[in-house]
Formats: sequence, C-alpha cells, structure tokens
Amino acid sequence: MRRGEVAATARMRGGIGADGPFWDALENGEFRIARCRNCHTWMMPAHFRCGTCGSWEIGWEEVAPKGVVYAWTRNHMVSDVLKERRGDLPYVTVLVELPHAGGVRVPGMLVGDPPDLACGMPVNGTIHPAEERSRGYATMVWEAAA
Ligand SMILES: [Zn+2]
Repeated sequence: MRRGEVAATARMRGGIGADGPFWDALENGEFRIARCRNCHTWMMPAHFRCGTCGSWEIGWEEVAPKGVVYAWTRNHMVSDVLKERRGDLPYVTVLVELPHAGGVRVPGMLVGDPPDLACGMPVNGTIHPAEERSRGYATMVWEAAA
C-alpha cells in the first residue's frame, strides 16, 4: 500500500472529517490549527462550526510548533489498535498546550524520555512523514526544548 493510500484508508476509519485539513497540512509539512474566521477562536479538535459564535467559516492558520507539556503518559504496552507501535515501547505520549494559539492542546509522541519530564516543560515539534507505524498519518513529534 502506498503512503497516500494508507492515509486515505486511515482517515475513512473514524472521525467526522472536520480535522482533515489538519492531517493534510501535516502531510505538506505545515502545522495548522483551525480558527474561526468570525470571532477568531482557536479549535482543537476541529469542528465544522464555531462553538463560540456559530459561524461556519473556519480557517486553518499555520502556527509555530512550540508549546508546553500539559499532560503526559509513559506507555509500556499497546493495544491491538496501536500494534504498529509495539517496537517503540516504552514511549511517552504528550498533550501539548499552544499558548500562542489560544491554549489549544495537541497530542503527539515525545522524543526519548527526559528525566525532567513534567507538566509545563517547553517542547518544540517536528513533523514526521506518514509511515506504517503511524498508521499512514504524518505526525507531530515533540522534543524537549533546549
Ligand atoms: Zn467563532
């Protein structure tokens, strides 16, 4: 299966599709977050309609992949749903808050397992291309800021 086919298949498995532009942007090497064009509220996860003002006009703004760890977990086992990650065990997943984008939170993996890992730790993100172990999605991978 080619890369694009894997991503298309994965996208059809779930979700309502409002976050499609997020994944498309990642595949193009861009980190974009949904934002209401009317009241400028940031949204993550994305919605088709703004929950603040009701507008259907949703844009996708490119933002710097910089944030702080809001929450994290160290994974020592994977379910069958994530069996592609079995070779990465143990690994850390994070929920990163973006203060410069309304404080929305974006999930991702963390590079390594830093000894000072804690909520509030500054991180920078890098986009990794789609691959089998990411179920055909390009992904944002976070790393402790130097
Ligand atoms: Zn709005």
